[in-house]
Amino acid sequence: MGYSFQYIILGGGVAAGYAAMELEKLGLRQGLLGIIYKEENIIPYDRPCLSKDCLNPNLPAGGIVVPSTSRTYAHVSVGDWELKNLPSNWYSKKGIMLYPGTEILRANLRRKLLSSEKLVFHYETLIIATGSTAIRLADFGVEGDDAKNIFYLWNVDDANNLLDAMKEKKNGKAVVIGGGYVAMEITASLRLHNIDVTMVYSESWCMSQLFTCDIAAFYEGYYANKGINIIKETDVIGFSTNSAREVKEVKLKDGRVLEADIVVVSLGGKPQISLFKGQLEEEQGGIKTDSFFKTSVSDVYAVGDVATFPLKLYGEFRRFEHADHARKSAEHVAKVLHSCSCDLPWQFYGDNVAKKGNLVDKYDYLPHLNSCSFDLPWQFYGDNVAKKGNLVDKYDYLPHLNSCSFDLSWQFYGDNVGETVLFGDNNPGSSKPKFGTYWIKDGKVVGAFLEGGTPDENEAIAKVARLMPAVVDVNQLATEGLSFAIKV
Ligand code: FAD
Repeated sequence: MGYSFQYIILGGGVAAGYAAMELEKLGLRQGLLGIIYKEENIIPYDRPCLSKDCLNPNLPAGGIVVPSTSRTYAHVSVGDWELKNLPSNWYSKKGIMLYPGTEILRANLRRKLLSSEKLVFHYETLIIATGSTAIRLADFGVEGDDAKNIFYLWNVDDANNLLDAMKEKKNGKAVVIGGGYVAMEITASLRLHNIDVTMVYSESWCMSQLFTCDIAAFYEGYYANKGINIIKETDVIGFSTNSAREVKEVKLKDGRVLEADIVVVSLGGKPQISLFKGQLEEEQGGIKTDSFFKTSVSDVYAVGDVATFPLKLYGEFRRFEHADHARKSAEHVAKVLHSCSCDLPWQFYGDNVAKKGNLVDKYDYLPHLNSCSFDLPWQFYGDNVAKKGNLVDKYDYLPHLNSCSFDLSWQFYGDNVGETVLFGDNNPGSSKPKFGTYWIKDGKVVGAFLEGGTPDENEAIAKVARLMPAVVDVNQLATEGLSFAIKV
């Protein structure tokens, strides 16, 4: 069966949801947009909630993940998220066609066709928002992750399965493999379910892609105080199972063997771009775009995790697997499409077939006005409206990542390069720890991290990272700490 749309978004995650919302705000006409995605029985949602509120037994929404189109999604405690507010019939009311449970297996960008097992879709404009998929242990040659009670957390089904296991194995033992922020959030949720948790990661400290060892020391200390065991600088090499194929042990490279009723693997993601191999230019493992998210093929855009775009702030190509960027890039591309909508049929009314018997050309007038007074004659031709098409500025993203677990919450803005300055109280035993770090490159603050900030303070560190003020004296910066950001 075949369908044809003016616009198709391939993907039904964070970017898809926000692109649809923005297009609708900008006047998208009914019937022009189709959204195709793999997950069944679900509408686009804010994926970050999977490892936060959805797994947290102490929040009102904790444990509520309803995989149904008439669902209410768990509340997302961080950021200014809106997808959760959309009623499930919003898409149908707006004339946006959803194709859940539809995996696209082939893309032919020359013919503008996407094919699933049973359906073929034709588009005029394609927005690729296929996001990332979990890096698996098999990618490192480790086998056995198909045993029962070994989980990856990437979608609502994964979250539901993990929640069921947490309830079933209450007071049991869990091993979390990975030291990133999602692994840390999952670990906190397991602990809150009274499960005895061990984290295992190969790096020297947690969240090593972003944290300095000083920042990490705080979180590792805090987690240890919550009774969480952390094993660093070793790898998982395999598992042992019982006769029911349930995981029982995790084997480490350093020879240790850990008992486990539940294992969660959280090693990060890799962009899903294989459908477009050889058809689109790539960069840094993603799809190369310009500042308007146009790819190397006309009428094809890419946003969210898959897009490698010119980051205006630093003048270089970057790719981010951050929900904040997924949302902002999606909203940006909607504005770009709207700005060139003079070329697109949502400005077209009626029927696009030639009418028989009408061989005389349409009246084709070039507007013209002139006047003269004294010895001043003037002429005007054309239209006195701003030219549509390039009214949207280049995407100007400030990198942003945040996370929360237990009663901790951190925000990071900018770039984590150069020397660092730590400030504040980073004692994991403090009753109200609050601390931060600045990154300084070429004499300027380029990045800022803050644990325990208020909304105003978080805004202040975002401003610092955006404006990149000069640092005269590094020692003074350490003494001033947060007040440096507040007065910028
Ligand atoms: P996704 O949201 O991943 O959506 C991709 C969509 O594409 C899916 O619907 C998928 O089914 C569909 N798709 C892919 N291939 C096909 C195909 N061939 N056919 C049909 N459909 C296809 N980021 C943060 O900034 N902060 C956080 O706190 C945070 N927490 C996270 C917690 C978890 C558990 C996870 C997994 C991620 C988290 N992230 C977080 C990352 C964030 O969720 C992603 O950056 C964001 O979801 C990217 O949005 P996207 O629309 O590009 O891709």
